[in-house]
Formats: sequence, structure tokens, C-alpha cells
Amino acid sequence: MSYDPDNIFAKILRGEIPSFKLYEDDETYVFMDIMPRADGHCLVIPKTPCRNLLDASPAQLAAVMATTQRMSHAVMRAFGAEGVTIQQFNEDAGGQEVYHLHFHVLPRHAGVALRPPGTMADMDVLKAQAEKIVAAVG
Ligand code: AMP
Repeated sequence: MSYDPDNIFAKILRGEIPSFKLYEDDETYVFMDIMPRADGHCLVIPKTPCRNLLDASPAQLAAVMATTQRMSHAVMRAFGAEGVTIQQFNEDAGGQEVYHLHFHVLPRHAGVALRPPGTMADMDVLKAQAEKIVAAVG
């Protein structure tokens, strides 16, 4: 299994397709998921190539996890959430659709189920939600 440099998240990193950026540092980049399963659903990715958890280096994992923790606090603050769910899928059998390592960060409220996958967000709503998260990132 090799890394495909033309996957959609690699294109986002190169600025070839747009994204609602929430945060970046030297090693990681965070943006809104365009088919959010909860308000504030965002994706944390390394800036360097790897397919998923199975081929990631310890350094890539450490950087992505630190940013995942930072974004968990930010989305909880931004949406007044009481918890957060982290999801991460590996290979087709594991539910992976985009082959650049990513962690889903989903703010959660007690008793509110995740929405089903596959529904595109309204871009104006996503932009407004992104602005709230940017304001909440420490
Ligand atoms: P998975 O590989 O199963 O974790 O799923 C990929 C995720 O990427 C899904 O939640 C999609 O909604 C999301 N996604 C796909 N294309 C884009 C995009 N261009 N911008 C933001 N999120 C995307």
C-alpha cells in the first residue's frame, strides 16, 4: 500500500482545492469536514505524507495527536459541547475513504446522536462555524 500524492487531502495541503482552515502549525493542518456528522466536525492531518495509522511515523502520530487534543478543546469551547468523539479509519476494510492520515474530531452533546455520513454541508453555515472554532483555538 503506497501513498497517492493526488489524494484530496494532499491537494488541500497544496492549496489546489479549497478548505475551511481552522489551525496549522509546522507539522499539522486542520480543516472543516464538508460532510459533518456533528456541528464543528473537523479533520486533523499531518503535513507530511502517510496513508493512515499503519504507515505513520511516531513523530507524525505525536504531532497529529497533540493537535487533535488542541482541537478537541477548541470545538468543545466553540459549541458548548460536553464531550468529544475521535474517529480514525484505516484501509477500505476499516472504513477509510481518503488515503492521507486524518483524525475526525466531533464535538458531542449528551443524548445527541451523530448524523449519518454523506450529507454535504451548507457552505455558508460551515464558514460561520469555522470562524467560531478559529476564535476558540488556544
Ligand atoms: P474517512 O476516510 O472514512 O475518514 O472519510 C473521509 C472524510 O473526509 C469524510 O468525513 C468526508 O466527509 C471528508 N471529506 C472528503 N472530501 C473532503 C473535502 N474536500 N474537504 C473536507 N472534508 C472532506
